Formats: sequence, C-alpha cells, structure tokens
Amino acid sequence: MKILVTVKRVIDHNVKIKIKTDKSDVDLSNTKMAINPFCEIAIEEAIRIKEKAEKEGITSEVIAVSVGTSLSQSELRTALALGVDRAILIETESNIESLNVAKILSKVVENEQPDLVILGKQAIDTDNNQTGQMLAALTGMPQGTFASAISINNSKISVTREIDGGMQTLELNLPAIVTTDLRLNEPRYASLPNIMKAKRKPLLIKTPEDYGVIIKQHCKLLGVDSPAKRQTGIMVESVSELVNQLKNEAKVI
Ligand code: AMP
Repeated sequence: MKILVTVKRVIDHNVKIKIKTDKSDVDLSNTKMAINPFCEIAIEEAIRIKEKAEKEGITSEVIAVSVGTSLSQSELRTALALGVDRAILIETESNIESLNVAKILSKVVENEQPDLVILGKQAIDTDNNQTGQMLAALTGMPQGTFASAISINNSKISVTREIDGGMQTLELNLPAIVTTDLRLNEPRYASLPNIMKAKRKPLLIKTPEDYGVIIKQHCKLLGVDSPAKRQTGIMVESVSELVNQLKNEAKVI
C-alpha cells in the first residue's frame, strides 16, 4: 500500500496574525510556522493505515509532498518524524495558487502511482478548499472529501462524510483521493528519538520544471485587512433592560 500525503507550511494556528503596515499582505516575519492542521490529520491517517497494514503483513510506504519555498523542509522533517518514510519538496515561490499545486501534485501522482492520496480539506492560510478536488479532476481519480472516517477493504475505500443533517458514506475504488475533516483522528506528537531519526530519512528536492509544470498565477492579491474590532459588552440588570438595549441601542429587534 503506497500512500501520498500532502503537507502545507502555514502560520501556526495558535499565532495571532499580523498584517504588513501597508496592508499588502500578511506579515510572516518572525512568525511561527507549522504544518497545516488538516495536513497533520492526513499524515496521522496515513500512518495509521500503514501500521494496520504492516500488522497484517502488507508492506506499506507513506510519502509526504510539499509545494513551497525551501523553508517547507522543516514541516517535511516533522512529517518524517511522525512516521512518514520519505518526503518530496517541490520548490516554488511562496503561496502559488491551488491549480498550480494540483498540477504539480498530479505529476507526482503519475510518477509515484500511489494507492491513496490524502490531503487536508483546506489550508488555514488561504481557506481555498479546492486542491484535493482539482487533483481529482486532473488525475481522473475518485474523491471522498471532508472525511470523518475511512476504512479500506481490498481495492476499495469507504469514506464517511458529515453533511447537512447527517452522515454520508461513499465507496470509492482505489486509487482514490481523500480530504480530511477535523473529526477523522487526533494527530500524535513526534517523539525526540523519532525527530533525530527523521534527519536521516530521504527528502528529495525538485522543481516544477522537473515535472514539466509551468506556474501560471490567475489572481492578484490586492490587500488584506484585520477583522473589525469587537466592541466591549455591557452588563444589564434585567430582561426588560436587555430588551430595551437591543431595541433602542443595538437596534437589532
Ligand atoms: P487548499 O485547497 O489550498 O485549501 O488546500 C487543501 C489541501 O491541499 C491542504 O490541506 C494541503 O493538504 C493541500 N495543499 C494545498 N497547498 C499545498 C502546498 N503548497 N503543498 C502541499 N500541499 C498543499
């Protein structure tokens, strides 16, 4: 069983986002970066599948792929410490559009011929939620998006998805593409010995040109802004005062 997982380097989700003074973009200077949380879930699921398969005597391999600047090596090393076997970094400028990423990933899929590709459902920096779907379109592979549970049975995978008002379970033929939702699993932490071992695991560095992909950007970032500051609340003594405030001050009823 060969599993490809995608790893995007994003601002650590615990960090408060800073904006450049000219509001042209988010300020990444001295900002803690990390693996996109949905990609952490993808890595965890791939490792669990590998561990289960190996218990059943099936050899498995997990490969992590990232598209980004050379700094993304750090997130790939973390993936290796978590249990990924080898990693590939395709070096590009920062934040290229999803279609470019999907085109590069489709070439990696063509080269590696994985049985399963697991991506996060979205990257928390751009919130695009489109790379997995684009990759499915480019490769012609079936897709199960927003997975909250998966199970593999011979050449098929069933994917449970949370949809409005309930759950939906799909069955896909492998090779397939799955994107992860939050409830799929709880990612593990890397142990110190595994962090040390990860330094010796293979990390291949490639370029889009190696895969014959020309990067084309279709959108221009015009600017970013912080969310409006929340006004401080007030304490009310009674329900009638609350109703009065909502009616006459906030004017919402
Ligand atoms: P997005 O469509 O940008 O919201 O991203 C969805 C998922 O695609 C992410 O959670 C990642 O697993 C994957 N992905 C997006 N961009 C990259 C990238 N530059 N490198 C690796 N994986 C990526």
